[in-house]
Amino acid sequence: MRGVGLFGGTFNPVHYGHLRAAEEALSAFSLDKVVFIPSYNPPLKRHGLVPSDDRLEMVRLATDSNDRFEVSDIECKRQGLSYTICTLQELVQNYGDRAVLYFILGMDSFMDMPNWYQAEAVISTVNFIILTRPPLNESEILASPYVDAEALNFPASESVTKVKLKQKGEAFLLNITALDISSTMIRQLINREKSVKYLLPENVQSYIIDKGLYRGQSTEL
Ligand code: ATP
Repeated sequence: MRGVGLFGGTFNPVHYGHLRAAEEALSAFSLDKVVFIPSYNPPLKRHGLVPSDDRLEMVRLATDSNDRFEVSDIECKRQGLSYTICTLQELVQNYGDRAVLYFILGMDSFMDMPNWYQAEAVISTVNFIILTRPPLNESEILASPYVDAEALNFPASESVTKVKLKQKGEAFLLNITALDISSTMIRQLINREKSVKYLLPENVQSYIIDKGLYRGQSTEL
């Protein structure tokens, strides 16, 4: 059966760390496609958040040239607080038996999951691809309350390790090319009028400049 990657995030803005991660997940799991899902109103990441229309458009621009990348406005259309569980339940229903769904997220986000709304339900709703992300190292995943102590004893391939979970659900740790890029870093550089070249696609950079996004954000970024 075909595999579909679901890549949720604020994408504020989207950058090469996201794009390369999606490409490596696509290849390592032979996925049919990766669907980028920009959040509308993320309960836990509101610093320097620009409107969802802009974030959605930037993701569209960034993914336009890749046939296997898709963008979903499911959270933007639903509005309200963007709870991952609601999105996943809707997508599980939409795809039915036609695909195996993998939620893609960075290790930092996975470690933050105890703070998520209905986190345990999220874990048992779909499969997980957890991306390595600096500065965390792989073994730190053992500190997650959802992960079994023997979690990392199951290498599946050179870059993929099956992660044993305490409850129902399949999770894999994907060792990706480490790109220490974050949206926070990009917002801070723009705010300081420094170059962000080569950290994100040029068309996204042009969009940010045209719209004057992230300039003069003096408070917490
Ligand atoms: P911010 O700096 O605003 O917190 P971010 O760079 O983490 O943002 P998000 O849109 O919040 O970007 O990320 C979406 C998902 O992609 C998250 O699960 C995050 O962990 C993952 N991710 C983002 N950047 C990277 C990266 N460079 N390497 C691996 N995973 C990443």
